[in-house]
Amino acid sequence: MLATPAIPMIGFCAWSGSGKTTLLTQLIPLLKAEGLRLAVIKHGHHKIELDQPGKDSFKFRAAGADQVILAASTRLAIMQECADQQEPSLQDALRLVNPNCADLILVEGFKHEAFPKLEINRPELGKPLLFPDDAHIIALVCDHAPAALAQLRPLPLLDLNAPERIVQFILTEVVKQATPQIQSTPSCADARDPDSMAFSAAQQQLNAAVSPLTAALQRPLRATLHQVLAADVISPLNVPAYTNSAMDGYALAGTELPTTEVREYKVIGTALAGQPFTGSCLAGQCVRVMTGAIMPVGTDTVVMQEQTETPAKDLVRIGSGHRSGQNVRQAGEDIQRGQRVLSRGRRVTAADVGLLASLGLAETKVLRPPRIAFFSTGDELRSLGEALEPGCIYDSNRYTLHSLLSELEMDIIDMGVIPDQPALLEAALREAAANADVVISSGGVSVGEADYIKAILERLGEMHFWKLAIKPGRPLTFGRLGDALFFGLPGNPVAVMVTFQMLVKPALLKLAGETDYRPLQLLATCQDALRKKPGRTEFIRAIFQHDTHGQLSVTRAGHQGSGILTSMSRANCFIVLPEENAGVAVGEPVMIQPFGRL
Ligand code: AMP
Ligand code: MG
Repeated sequence: MLATPAIPMIGFCAWSGSGKTTLLTQLIPLLKAEGLRLAVIKHGHHKIELDQPGKDSFKFRAAGADQVILAASTRLAIMQECADQQEPSLQDALRLVNPNCADLILVEGFKHEAFPKLEINRPELGKPLLFPDDAHIIALVCDHAPAALAQLRPLPLLDLNAPERIVQFILTEVVKQATPQIQSTPSCADARDPDSMAFSAAQQQLNAAVSPLTAALQRPLRATLHQVLAADVISPLNVPAYTNSAMDGYALAGTELPTTEVREYKVIGTALAGQPFTGSCLAGQCVRVMTGAIMPVGTDTVVMQEQTETPAKDLVRIGSGHRSGQNVRQAGEDIQRGQRVLSRGRRVTAADVGLLASLGLAETKVLRPPRIAFFSTGDELRSLGEALEPGCIYDSNRYTLHSLLSELEMDIIDMGVIPDQPALLEAALREAAANADVVISSGGVSVGEADYIKAILERLGEMHFWKLAIKPGRPLTFGRLGDALFFGLPGNPVAVMVTFQMLVKPALLKLAGETDYRPLQLLATCQDALRKKPGRTEFIRAIFQHDTHGQLSVTRAGHQGSGILTSMSRANCFIVLPEENAGVAVGEPVMIQPFGRL
C-alpha cells in the first residue's frame, strides 16, 4: 500500500476514452458542496507544458532552474523538472499535497498503484475489466453492467449517470472510514478533543462571570441614541395632554346625534390645533374643529367634514349612523402621567428619542459605556502604512476589533501591536487593565513557542484557558486582570470574529447594562447540504435572504477555511449547528444568527 498522507484518497482508473475526466468534473462540485476541500492529482503520460514562452517563470526554467515556484496573490504553482530523472510516482505527487487545504485527494490515473480506486467501465469500448486483477478497486462505475460480471468477484456497482450516488459512496466508504489525524497542538483546524468545553458551558460561565456596570451619565437627548438607559423613564405628562379631535369636521355632544332623520346644527365657532375655542357648546350647536384641536367644552364627538352638508354659512346638516365619542383622541390615551415608558437597560432607538422628546425630556441618564483596551500580539504583524518584510503580514484583527467594538458603542483604547516578548506583553497587559473595564488581545493564546499570554496571565491575574468544542475558534482564554475582564482571542482572523460574535459580544453587552444582550437567532431554510459530525458546535459563514413572502433561506458564503476572510466578509450570518447535529440536508431548517446591520 502507498504511504498515503492522513487525508483520505480515492482514485479513478479506466482505459482511456472511458470518461474519467468528465466524471471527475461532475463529482468535484458535488463534493465541494459537502464541504470538502479537494486536491486532484492527474497522471499525464506525455510531456506537458503549462507555462508560456515569454513569462518570467518560463525564462527561469529555460535558464536551467530545476524547480520554479510561482506564488501569486490567488494561486501557488510548482513546476519541477523531472526530464533527466525518473518519471514522478504517485508518492512524489502526494508529497506536494498541502494537508492544510485538503480533506480528500482525488487521483486520476496511476491505475497500477495500490490505493482505493473506482473503476470506470464502458462496455462499448470492448476493453477488459481491471478489477478482477486489482484488489484495490472498491467499486465499478458503469452505465450498464458488463455481461461477464456474474462470474467475477462481487463488487459494488455505481451508476455512471448518477454522480450524487457516487459522491455518497465516496463519503461513506472513503471519507468516513479514514482515521482522523491527531495533532499535537491545539489549532482551529484540530479534530475533536475530549478535554474541550461545550459551547453552552462557555456561554454559561461567561454569563455568570459578568455583571453590569452601574456608573451613569446625564446626556442631552440627541446624545442618548444607542446608549443604554441607566434608569426607568417615568412620564411627567399625559400624552396626548388634552382630549382632541382626530379629524377635520364638527364637534358636538354625542347625546345630540340624530338617530334616524337628518338634523341641522348651528356652527358657533372654530377650534384649530394650538387655538382652542373658548366658548361652550349647547344643544343644537356644534363647533368646526381641525385635527389636533382641543375638544370644546360640551363636546365629546366629531363628525368628519366629508359626512356633512353645509346648506348655509353657520349651518351644518348631519345624518344618522354616527357613534357617540367617535373621532376623538382621549387625554392620556397613549401615555399616562407617572407611567413607565422605557425601562432601565434598554438601548435607545430613534423611536425612543422621539418618545422622550414628546415627554419634554431634554436630558436622560445613560450608563457609561464599557472601556475596552485591545491589542494584537505577534512579531509578524505590521500596521497599515508599514513596510511588509518577508514573513510579515498586516495586522487585520485590530482593525476588525476596532470596528466590532465601535458598532457596539464601546469606549475604545487601541494599544497597537505588541511583539511576542514577555516583558512587553506584561507591560501592555498591566497598562490595559489599569485603564479599562475589559482587555482583549488576539494571538499568542495557543501552545506555540511564542504564545506567552497564558503564562503571564496566570501570574498577574486569574485565568481560564478554554479549548472549546467549536469550529472555528477553538482556543480562547478568559479571566480577570485586577478589576478588568480579560479575553485572549485566537490569532486566526476568522476565529477572532467567531469568538467575538458568539461569546465576547453578549458578555460586553451585558457588561454595558443592556437587558437584551442575547443574540437574535432565526430559523431559515438551508439551501446547501452541510456535513458535520456530532460533538462540537459549528458556525458556518453564510448569507441569508428572504423571498417575496418574507420566508428566510440561507446558503454557505463559500470556502469555510479558518484563514479565509473573504467568506467572512461576504457572510451576513452564521448558521449555528449545535453540538448534537449530524449534518443538514438541502431544504432542512437551520438556526441562523445574523450579524452586522440588518
Ligand atoms: P497565533 O495564535 O498567535 O499563533 O496566531 C495564529 C495565526 O493567526 C497566525 O497565522 C498568525 O500570523 C495569525 N494572526 C495572529 N494575529 C493576527 C492579526 N492581528 N492579524 C492577522 N493575522 C493574525
Ligand atoms: Mg502569534
